Amino acid sequence: MLNVSHLTKKYHRFTANENLTFMVADGETAVLAGPNGAGKSTAIKCIAGLLRFEGEIEICGFKNKSREAKQILGYVPEIPAPFELLTVWEHMEFIARAYRLTDWEDRARELVRRMELTDKKDKLGMELSKGMQQKISICCALLPRPRAVLFDEPLVGLDPHAIKELKAMLGEMKKDGTTIIISTHMLESVEDIWDRVFIMMNGRIEAERERKKVEESGENLEELFFSITEKNREDKD
Ligand code: ADP
Repeated sequence: MLNVSHLTKKYHRFTANENLTFMVADGETAVLAGPNGAGKSTAIKCIAGLLRFEGEIEICGFKNKSREAKQILGYVPEIPAPFELLTVWEHMEFIARAYRLTDWEDRARELVRRMELTDKKDKLGMELSKGMQQKISICCALLPRPRAVLFDEPLVGLDPHAIKELKAMLGEMKKDGTTIIISTHMLESVEDIWDRVFIMMNGRIEAERERKKVEESGENLEELFFSITEKNREDKD
């Protein structure tokens, strides 16, 4: 479960997130949607505990910067940053030690296999392509079986097999009750997996929708998305 309450983030005088309040339940997949610059990455980095912010963020009842929260939170950044001089398999070992995991090898092998990195497991981080770096970043985030996981634009740069596999993994995590947050500027890329969507523009959440209600009402989400994001553009012009 994720609870964000009155999150405001300023970079000097520029407000990148303005008073965001939202909740994502256990087993729910929430999407932060919005065009480039809407403030999605900033919100995700605040939730991950990487930035200073005003407001309150709790992961399963723990303050997000606490050790307890960090132990149960996974984060896949938009730009992967593997260790240059660790191999793919050493990344798994490193995470296992950092999180004090026991009996992690089978799961690590399975993650590496599903991301098609098995034959690259002895390659160094710096020898991997951008897409492979993204895959190792996914394996690292998921190895400790996080109870909440943040994906910043996870589908950009992945090959179709990895996208299919990642979506299957998201489905399995959801069944296990994991809280999933995905940011994207392309709504259609997540149309088969979302339960709740927050449409962001200029640092604010301009609309929130639940899948069930959208399906009942027949509302067109894409139209809503463009009515919000293009209206704001016109206001600026
Ligand atoms: P999104 O992920 O939706 O594309 P970001 O959260 O990356 O948006 O950025 C939101 C706004 O904050 C943008 O206008 C961006 O230029 C600005 N911004 C992001 N990071 C910084 C930073 N480190 N310093 C100053 N401004 C930043």
